[in-house]
This record gives sequence, C-alpha cells and structure tokens, in this order.
Amino acid sequence: MTKKVLISGAGIAGSTLAYWLHRSGFAVTVVERAPAMRDGGYKVDIRGAALDVVRRMGLLDEIRALRTDVRGAFVVDATGRRVASMDADTFGGREHGDAEILRGDLARLLYGRTRDAVTYRFGDSIESIMDGTVTLHSGHTETFDVIVGADGLHSRTRELTFGPEREFVHDLGYRIAICAVPNHLGIDREELTYVGPGRTTLVYSTARDTDAKAMFIFRTPSTEDADRRAALRAAYTDQGWEVPRLLEALTPDLYYDALCQVRMDSWARGRVVLLGDAAYCASPASGQGTGLALVGAYVLAGELASASHERAFAAYERVMRPFVAANQKLGPDNVKRMVLGSKGQVRVSMAMLGLMARMPGRERILARVMAPLHRAANAITLPDYGSASATACSGPST
Ligand SMILES: Cc1cc2nc3c(=O)[nH]c(=O)nc-3n(C[C@H](O)[C@H](O)[C@H](O)COP(=O)(O)OP(=O)(O)OC[C@H]3O[C@@H](n4cnc5c(N)ncnc54)[C@H](O)[C@@H]3O)c2cc1C
Repeated sequence: MTKKVLISGAGIAGSTLAYWLHRSGFAVTVVERAPAMRDGGYKVDIRGAALDVVRRMGLLDEIRALRTDVRGAFVVDATGRRVASMDADTFGGREHGDAEILRGDLARLLYGRTRDAVTYRFGDSIESIMDGTVTLHSGHTETFDVIVGADGLHSRTRELTFGPEREFVHDLGYRIAICAVPNHLGIDREELTYVGPGRTTLVYSTARDTDAKAMFIFRTPSTEDADRRAALRAAYTDQGWEVPRLLEALTPDLYYDALCQVRMDSWARGRVVLLGDAAYCASPASGQGTGLALVGAYVLAGELASASHERAFAAYERVMRPFVAANQKLGPDNVKRMVLGSKGQVRVSMAMLGLMARMPGRERILARVMAPLHRAANAITLPDYGSASATACSGPST
C-alpha cells in the first residue's frame, strides 16, 4: 500500500524531501503556512555532500546556470574607500565547483521540480497531531503514516510534538536581517563589507538582479525586537558608510531573525520526525543551513524508502548526527569572525585584511581559514539508496 507522508514547510528541506519521497513511490502532501512559495533570502552556498545531493537530483546544471556570479569581494571603510579586495569565491570559501545561488532561486527550482508530483497546500498549517491523524488550521483532517516537521527554526511541529521552543532553540546573541534594496551604489556582481564594532553590513549585487541585497548582522543582548525595522535602526545608529541610506531603502521582503541553533537529543517521536532547521539549525553564520537541509532530506527519504518508520528514523539520526555536530560547530566560531567586538578589534582586523589582500599566497592563507568549513561540509559519506523503486518526478522547472 502507498505510504502517505505529510511534510510541514515548503522550504529547502521540505521540497527536497518531497522530491525524493515521491521518487520512491510515497504519496506526499506539503502544507506551507505562507500563501505562496517563499522565495526571499540571501545567497547560499551548496558545497561538499550537498553538491552531491543536487547532482543526484539532476539539478546541478540548473543550479550552475543560476549562480550569483559574484566576482569581487571588498572591505570598505566608513568613507567607502575599498581597503581590501579579494576574489569572491576565495572570500566566500568556495572551491571545487561549489555553487553560490540565491536561496529564493533554489526554493523556486525545488518547487518547480515537485509541484506536479506532490500536493502542496499553501496558506495552511498543522493545528494538532494525534498519532498519525493531523488536523490543519483550515479544519481539514487526514491520517498519515509519517509526519515531517520541516517548518524551520520556529517549527510548530516541534512545539506540538516535543515541547516549547525555549527548550531547544539557543540564541547565540546576534540578529540577522536580509533585504532587497535598490542598487543605488551601482555595483555589478560585487560584494562590499563594512565592519563596525558589534555590527557588520554587507551589500552585494548578483547576476540577473537589478536590485542589490543588504545584510545586517549585529550583536545584541536584547530579545525585545517586536518592531524589527526599529530594532535594526536602533542597532545601527551612528554607523558610517552607506548604512543610513540602506536602512532607509529597505523593501518589504525583510528577513529578520535571531541567530540561533537548535539542539535536540532526539529528532523523532512516534510518527513525527523533524528535518532541517526545525531539528538542527546550525545558524546562518555556519554557512551550512542549506547543506544540512539538502543532505538531511536525502538521508531521511532514503531511510524511509528502505524500512519501517521506526527503523528509518533511528537510521536517519545515526547517519546525520556526526554531520550535524561538525556543521553546528561552525556557527559560533564564524560569527565571532564576522562581527567584531570593539573599535580596537575592527582597526586591527582592517589593517590585517588590507595587508593580506596584497600578500602573495593570500589564497593559501584563506584556504587554511576556510578548511574547517570544507571538512564539515564533507563530514558524511552519502549512502547510496539505489533507485530501483524510483518513479519520475516532474521535469525541469522553467
Ligand atoms: C523567506 C526565507 C528567507 C531566508 N533567508 C535566509 C538567508 O538569507 N540566509 C540564511 O542563512 N538563511 C535564510 N533562511 C533560512 C534558510 O532557508 C534555512 O536555514 C535553510 O535553508 C534550511 O531550510 P529549512 O527548509 O529547514 O527551513 P526554511 O528554509 O526556513 O523553510 C521552512 C518553511 O516552513 C514554513 N513554515 C514555517 N512555519 C510553518 C508552519 N507552522 N506551517 C507550515 N509551514 C511553516 C516557512 O514558511 C518556510 O517555507 C531563510 C528562510 C526563509 C523562509
């Protein structure tokens, strides 16, 4: 009998899982709270084992075609002077065909690959779960063999099944905001970084996008930021460079959240299992949230296709735990390099970056800095689940 799976969340993890489960003959429903596919967000890297997952999905060429193509990375001072310049791939720690793509482009691509093969219910969400029977906010009730919480950092499925967010979500003490802004700086496939004490600002433009994107990442002890735009403005008062103009220009698609990690002893209970940020968010500072979502979805689908849900959940945890641990370690380490504590630290760092950018062999130095990222991205050998029972998913998206 065809097994029925409900996935909560049509993000990177949810759509990837839908793809693989459908290929193995499952009947898949995805329930997404947003009224349509959410395609905002920053640029994300697909590297290491995650690259292998998208290759196995036959998506690599399309992902490569959508590459951001950002070429130069520059550090600027308060007057806008470029004090250090580097090749963007070196600066972003990309090697061996790693691909940088906008999160929204990836989300759209995954949705395009699955929309004709699985049932998407937009504008709805899980209200209650009773063993395998789920009631949605709309009132719709249905019974499933497996329920997957791929509903992100603030997962409702996790709250309903495991308990309140505060038990699992650990705030690293920073906020991150990402937003499209008009490209008034006239940059073309470049990335500019401005570092102030406790606050870093980045602006970049990518291929095929007339707007630019701005990212703000700042340290704060406060959890009182109900008005996100006001919190952002308060954190960035008295900042130099183009910061005041960028804050004025924020468009409505603002992504704003605390920099958090999710740490849980177990990702499954009964018929419910968690996936991606809902289970093991490593924080955007890790640079590996997308990779964890892609790899986790591949492994969970493969295990579910091979065994009962109890065995599959246990195997999923066994395979994923070391990979998750390696990648979660990156988050707190990286954010300390991205956001500097004091004026003195900023001065020293800027001087060192300026020096390093002019040094012969700088690629080797940066490669050493990035080595932990590459080790973590490759800290799993993807099981080969075979494709004997595979059925075709819908063709390439347009
Ligand atoms: C709009 C958006 C922009 C993002 N931008 C960035 C970024 O710029 N940089 C970065 O590092 N990370 C960003 N993230 C997070 C990043 O996508 C994830 O860390 C990573 O891709 C892991 O994916 P995920 O599928 O586990 O979670 P997510 O990509 O967060 O997807 C979760 C999905 O679940 C949906 N959802 C949430 N609650 C419910 C509910 N109760 N019922 C049904 N559906 C629900 C959400 O709308 C979303 O579509 C963004 C996430 C979103 C949703």
